[in-house]
Amino acid sequence: MANVELKKINKYFGETHILHDIDLVINDGEFVVLVGPSGCGKSTTLRIVAGLEDASSGDLMIQGNRMNEVEPKDRDIAMVFQNYALYPHMDVYENMAFGLRLRKFDDAEIATRVDEAAELLGITDLLKRKPKELSGGQRQRVAVGRAIVRKPSVFLFDEPLSNLDAKLRVQMRTEIKKLHARLKTTMIYVTHDQVEAMTMGDRIVVMKDGDIMQAETPLNMYHKPANKFVAGFIGSPSMNFFNLSAVEKGNEKLDGSSMSLHVPSDLSARVQKEGLVEIGVRPEHFKVSQTETPFVAELEVSELMGNESYLYLNSKGYQFVIRIQESIILTPGSPVYLDFDMDKVHLFSGKTGARI
Ligand code: ADP
Repeated sequence: MANVELKKINKYFGETHILHDIDLVINDGEFVVLVGPSGCGKSTTLRIVAGLEDASSGDLMIQGNRMNEVEPKDRDIAMVFQNYALYPHMDVYENMAFGLRLRKFDDAEIATRVDEAAELLGITDLLKRKPKELSGGQRQRVAVGRAIVRKPSVFLFDEPLSNLDAKLRVQMRTEIKKLHARLKTTMIYVTHDQVEAMTMGDRIVVMKDGDIMQAETPLNMYHKPANKFVAGFIGSPSMNFFNLSAVEKGNEKLDGSSMSLHVPSDLSARVQKEGLVEIGVRPEHFKVSQTETPFVAELEVSELMGNESYLYLNSKGYQFVIRIQESIILTPGSPVYLDFDMDKVHLFSGKTGARI
């Protein structure tokens, strides 16, 4: 077990500045998920921890020791890749044993560790098979097994579930989580999938264009996103945003481009100070009102899921989605009167996107 610290890490590929002053502490035993859109620098960050890329500047510390110049094999970490990177000509046992053989472990110790890991992952009866004789999910387990047998201080996962079908992905997600609970080893996990991040991470690090936007526990991030980007990235369907531009009637009524709503005066004072503000409302925080409200939208499409419904709405050109528990059947074009709890709305600066 070990803690990992990135101090002002920068990375250039040629002239292109990919990572900007990345500062991050990952605690001993913590499961941290790096998440963000494709190209934001998640894999590069992970590969710098692994030693597969050099940082252009900054310090990488593992358990308090600077690792920048230490060879990958001497960093006491194991990485699981998206494509599994199994050796096709070796059977499962040999694939799992390979790293230990390189490190000159004796046969008895190798057998103990491989059997233990195979047992833990439920692949004991596959040990004699070649990778081509395995399903995607089984290959994934072997790749994880190969990392476990090394008993590293830190596990790194680079999009390990992307090649699996949706059902298997959900299953492996819980298996990796359970594995973390058993092993209690520090894990750094990269994904572009915010649901994976929310369900797996003790803490989530949201990245965008080579910067960390926010590092928080999943629930804190969901309830208090630091900025509009995080607010829109975390949660499914995504948060809806509306412009609020002017304040009327004793600071109590905000007139947005698409709606009017009454807000508490302390809030409207904040809006007035900021000038241009965007209001964020999660789809699940709308209520459909039985009576007419000032906020009316037209139904475009409804998706009835059984236990809940998504209504895709349009209000004066603003398209947004709400998520409600009941299955109401409405024809497209019907008016939908809406309400939402002002305690649940998020406000963001129209200039910087920062939470206000
Ligand atoms: P992510 O994992 O978030 O999708 P990456 O860390 O793989 O993003 O890439 C971040 C950026 O760095 C991207 O713009 C990518 O094109 C660029 N990049 C990654 N690897 C290289 C490389 N070896 N040479 C040049 N550019 C690279």
